[in-house]
Amino acid sequence: MTAQAETLNRDCGFTGNDRVIRRQSRRSAARLAALLVVLSLCAMQVSPAQQRVQEEDFYPAWAAQARYLQPLMVLDTDSALGRRNLYPKPITLRDMARMHGHLCDGLVTAWVELGSTLRLMFPDGVVDRTDVRVVSKNAPCWADAGAWMTGARMNQGTLMLDNSVGDGFILQRISTGNAVRVSLRKGIYPADLAALEQSIRARRARGTFVAPAEIDRFERDANEYSRKLLNTPPDKAITLERLADYHFPDHSQNALAPRSDTINRDAPRSSTRASGENR
Ligand SMILES: [Zn+2]
Repeated sequence: MTAQAETLNRDCGFTGNDRVIRRQSRRSAARLAALLVVLSLCAMQVSPAQQRVQEEDFYPAWAAQARYLQPLMVLDTDSALGRRNLYPKPITLRDMARMHGHLCDGLVTAWVELGSTLRLMFPDGVVDRTDVRVVSKNAPCWADAGAWMTGARMNQGTLMLDNSVGDGFILQRISTGNAVRVSLRKGIYPADLAALEQSIRARRARGTFVAPAEIDRFERDANEYSRKLLNTPPDKAITLERLADYHFPDHSQNALAPRSDTINRDAPRSSTRASGENR
């Protein structure tokens, strides 16, 4: 550096160290700008499916805020060879929706019915899931709820499938034999919703047209039914009947059925329907 340049730098207050710091700052700023460009490109490539995962729109706010929704306290065993748990754990409708794959009217109805029945059978409010067996109809939502809430399993002969139980269940405590039938009160499930579901299923079975707007309407009305049910005192929506001397069936009457909640999997979406509409 010339004597003139050194004089200029001194006059401006710059030292050799200052110049190194300024060079490093410029490099850091350039790196930060490059990083921001990469991040913004990545953000543009996030798929709608990934965005839905981030938002967790499988569980809408109306469910999270429902008045009569409460966790169920359950006991299991500590391990594959374990003793009964010393302390209960809570399970929630949200947990069940995550595992089932969606929150639907059947799952919500089953949650209300099974929760009330289990609280009747376990008056201290803690459900021993090693001591329950269940009869459910053969439908994906009902059988999943019947297994996950109670600990009953088809492969162990503690979950039997029989469509004659309708939109309800029969539960029995294995240790005592005490059994309860739970049913939905007449008029709770809207007749027009049942008719729309039946109509869509019948047309899908025949391979005839179902409009995307009809699927939207079914989902909207089913969510409204679920929202109302979760804001209704359970005893106003269901009936519980103790069954004397109940003999648990030794086999399922309706052991196999085609999966019924995927029949519209590949149907187009309405152009007006936005992600998260069912919130
Ligand atoms: Zn379902």
